[in-house]
Amino acid sequence: MILSCIDSRAPAEIILDTRIGDTFNARIAGNIANEDLIGSLEFACAAAGAKVILVMGHTACGAIKGAIDQVELGHLTGLLAKIKPAVDETQYSGDRSSKNDEFVDAVARTNVRRAIDAIRNGSSVLAPMEKDGKLKIVGAMYHLNGGAVEFLT
Ligand SMILES: [Zn+2]
Repeated sequence: MILSCIDSRAPAEIILDTRIGDTFNARIAGNIANEDLIGSLEFACAAAGAKVILVMGHTACGAIKGAIDQVELGHLTGLLAKIKPAVDETQYSGDRSSKNDEFVDAVARTNVRRAIDAIRNGSSVLAPMEKDGKLKIVGAMYHLNGGAVEFLT
């Protein structure tokens, strides 16, 4: 079960070389985990038998940049507000602007960790599955430059 960003440059199935029937895929700007997405993860894992949840962020993410810049645009405003805590939580002493690629990617990492926490803390279905060893929840960053998938520890 992959939770990743809608970015056209980061299509999870293609990046991970999966085929039809291999993975469940949820894509939303900034790969956040809200209640409806967690419900989808619960379906995939508890009802349909998926054994791993991979939350995959990516470098140069526009949603992360939007959250840093506090962009306001229709319903996107509310979505970006869910990413904003990752901006605030990210420890970074340099330029904390969306023009700094290093900061943007640091926030994206924080955002992946926050999504994993949201899944663990927000699902009474998935948390016990993970505790019992029936489910793994892991994070990764996809690097647009070079194409590497870096798994986060
Ligand atoms: Zn993105």
